[in-house]
Amino acid sequence: MVLFDNHNHSQFSFDGGRTSVEASARAAVAAGLRGICFSDHCDHYVPPMKASFENLVPEYFDVAEQQAEISRVQSLIGDRLHILKGIEIGMYEECHEQIRKVLEENSFDQVLASVHYIEQTDPYYGGYYEGKEWRQAYGGYLETIYREMTWLRDFDIMGHYDYIVRYASYPVTSIRYRDFSDIFDEMFRFLIHEGKALEINTKSYEGHRGRLVELDHDVLLRYREMGGEIISLGSDSHEPSRVGAGFARHAALLKSLGFRWTAHYESRKLVQLPL
Ligand SMILES: [Zn+2]
Repeated sequence: MVLFDNHNHSQFSFDGGRTSVEASARAAVAAGLRGICFSDHCDHYVPPMKASFENLVPEYFDVAEQQAEISRVQSLIGDRLHILKGIEIGMYEECHEQIRKVLEENSFDQVLASVHYIEQTDPYYGGYYEGKEWRQAYGGYLETIYREMTWLRDFDIMGHYDYIVRYASYPVTSIRYRDFSDIFDEMFRFLIHEGKALEINTKSYEGHRGRLVELDHDVLLRYREMGGEIISLGSDSHEPSRVGAGFARHAALLKSLGFRWTAHYESRKLVQLPL
C-alpha cells in the first residue's frame, strides 16, 4: 500500500525537539511510506494559562528556513520518499489577520488547519473542561472548528476533530456521530463541497495518561454516505519512532468501511492514492 503521513512535526515546531526533518524522513523510508509532510505548528495565540506550566515560547516557525531544510533533506534522500512542505495552522479568532498573512505570503504543498486553543485555554492542561459536561465540551470544540474553517477556507485538511477527547477526563471517550450528527453533517457538507480532506489522526487512538480515545466508525461511514472520499492519514509524530504509527491498521479500517483512496496535496492540488 502506498501511503503518505501528512501530519508530522520537526525541529521547527516549538514541541518538536525530539526529532528533525532528516531523522523523521529517514524513519518514513524505514516505515515503508511513500511520502511525508512536515506540518509544523503555527499558532499565533498562546493562552496565558500555559505560562504556569511551561515557559512560553513562540509557537510559529520561519517558513523559509523550514522549507530550505526540507529541500536539503529531499535531495539527500532522493526518489525513495516524497517530502512535502506543510504547516499546521492553528485557527483562533483573534489571530485571523496573522493567519491570512502567513498563508498568503508563503507557498505550501498542503495546509492542515486545526484548533489547539479554545476559550483562552489549552485543553492539554485542562481549563476548557471546567464547568462543562462532556456534550458541551466536545460540541463546543466541533462548533469552533466549523466556525473557524468556514472563515478560513484557505486550507486542505481538517485536523484532529477529536483532539479535545485526548485530554478530557469524562467517561465518554469518543466523539460519536450520533451525539453530534448536526454539526458533523455541516462539517462534512463543507469539506465535500470544497474538496478538502478529513484527517484520521492516529495519535488520538494511542492513549494518553491511561486514557484511550475511540474512533467512532459511524463518523467515517456518514462522511462516506454523504459523498466524502477524501481522507488524510496523519500520525502527529513529534519523534521518528511514531512516523506512520497505526497506518496499517487504519488503512485496513478505511478499506473495510468502503473507502478507496487516501489523499494528500502537492502544491495545494489533491492527489489520491488507491488503498
Ligand atoms: Zn495539532
